[in-house]
Amino acid sequence: MKKFLTLVHLLICLVAYGQKPLVVSSASIFADMSKRIGGDHIEVQSIVPIGGDPHKYEATPDDARLLAGASLILINGLTFEGWINEVIDTSGTKARVVLITEGIEAIKSAEHQNAVDPHAWMDAENGLIYLKNIKDALVTMDPGHAQDYEKNYFVYKEELTELHQYIQRRMAEIPPAQRILITSHDAFSYFGNKYGLKINAMMGVSTDADAQTGDMERVIEALTKQKVPAIFIESTINPKMLMQIAHDHNVIIGGSLYADSVGEPGTEGESYLGMMRHNADVIAGALSRQVKTGISLSTGINWSMYAILIAALLLSWVLLILKLKK
Ligand SMILES: [Zn+2]
Repeated sequence: MKKFLTLVHLLICLVAYGQKPLVVSSASIFADMSKRIGGDHIEVQSIVPIGGDPHKYEATPDDARLLAGASLILINGLTFEGWINEVIDTSGTKARVVLITEGIEAIKSAEHQNAVDPHAWMDAENGLIYLKNIKDALVTMDPGHAQDYEKNYFVYKEELTELHQYIQRRMAEIPPAQRILITSHDAFSYFGNKYGLKINAMMGVSTDADAQTGDMERVIEALTKQKVPAIFIESTINPKMLMQIAHDHNVIIGGSLYADSVGEPGTEGESYLGMMRHNADVIAGALSRQVKTGISLSTGINWSMYAILIAALLLSWVLLILKLKK
């Protein structure tokens, strides 16, 4: 009965909104994933536009109209798009709402207790779960094109698996003492957990509260204590505070990272795969640099240890010679 109703709903939407079923996702990253799997069989729209901040987004009557015409709605959940349930209710849509993080183990924010971290796609292995959930949702919505969805999913899955291994290789290039990622907001914990980087962010897992003086002090402390070679701004967040810290503490901005949105068409980060690859390249490039002392931190420790040993050895020889002369 449920399947029958889904098919009836799909037919109504097809008649009302043209030939292809409309898939609406909350954010551009999931829209890109859907386009890759759905190919020419579906129409895809994202509520939050490219470059927008999904944490702070305010839904409009146009969004409600878009959702009303949807055959399928894809959301991240885990508090990412807290505003979406209200606009879904307002729209009166009959479309199935699918949680594409289903099956992913959510982690808590490293800096902010009691907060769930929504940025699960930043771990490419979690990305594989997103792809499977989206593929399954498309097959249920439109079983007539199941074979094509399966085929596209298979190719996409292979590419993402390769990218996961590429990210692992790039992160291994960074000297272990310099594997610390300082960014605008706490969007990289899944990335850090999977690829072995310590994370320190100015803001929490959401951007809806402004950074406080305490947050700035914490970031500065991490920066001075660990002598990191670079800090990073994000494509959807005002970089002012991090630029100020970089200037005051004579550290470079390693580049701009993609976290909550894909990049504009034509940029390196225009797709989910592109943004993940771009992030890995920018992070590995900037954090592999030698720190400002001219020698890397780990090498610095080794040299000072050698210097102390040689000095102690020389001193003991001098003392021995003086004693023999007596
Ligand atoms: Zn975020």
